Amino acid sequence: MTEFFEHIPSYYRTAFLVAGLVILWILEGVIPRLRFSGNRYRHAGANLFFTLTTAIVNLGFAFLVVKTSDFTAKDQFGLLYLVQLPLWLHAALALLMLDFIGAYLVHWVQHKIAWMWHFHKIHHMDIAVDATTALRHHPVESVFRVGALLAAILVMGVPIWMVMFYQSLSALMSQFNHANIHLPHWVDKSLSWVIVSPDMHKVHHSRHQPETDSNYANIFSVWDRLFGTFVTVKDTASLRYGLNEYQDEKYRQIGALLKTPWENVPVPKKQVGLQQQ
Ligand SMILES: [Zn+2]
Repeated sequence: MTEFFEHIPSYYRTAFLVAGLVILWILEGVIPRLRFSGNRYRHAGANLFFTLTTAIVNLGFAFLVVKTSDFTAKDQFGLLYLVQLPLWLHAALALLMLDFIGAYLVHWVQHKIAWMWHFHKIHHMDIAVDATTALRHHPVESVFRVGALLAAILVMGVPIWMVMFYQSLSALMSQFNHANIHLPHWVDKSLSWVIVSPDMHKVHHSRHQPETDSNYANIFSVWDRLFGTFVTVKDTASLRYGLNEYQDEKYRQIGALLKTPWENVPVPKKQVGLQQQ
């Protein structure tokens, strides 16, 4: 496994992503959670464009990720090198901490700091959340995320094969927890004790802000449980996705989505309705 992930070619990682998408795309047809109106292919097209920009940003920073990781491994730099750990324990703790800093923390920060939220919000503007939403990130958000990953590697000390393993698993898990699939309630609930289940993450895509600001985790649900951001709702099928301010049809287009961070926030449709009454 060490060997495999140390030299994993980028087309292998792309194949993982595509395979995950294809399998979930089929499952979303067989056991859908919600039935969306609108064109599924057009929706996927916009989301896959942002998946591609995420991949390009990651590729652009890959050199820095490898360099940072190699430096920590060579100089035994980072918290995980402070004591001699068996390889399996080093790998398990690295996976946990990369998930904490590289996903939970950087995600939480983007919900708390206004200028960062303006880049993250295009992820929340999707009104038909499915597996293609997983990597729908503004290119600037992708840079924030690489920055957090670099910080995590440097602080913890993580060999490159563990970083590659984490990144592959993280992308697959994100596709899984965004997937528009309906698992039996007990299965979803049991999963959510360890990993982020589809129902758990859907709460995060709710239009209702206390729910939007919850369930930030990606792989392991422990972070939300530990920091008090774990929220469940009784009937997850009644959740309404998206953001009230961005209901206009134009926000389904790539160009408009790219520009939203620099736009004035439109008046929420709900308020327009109230004013008219
Ligand atoms: Zn979010």
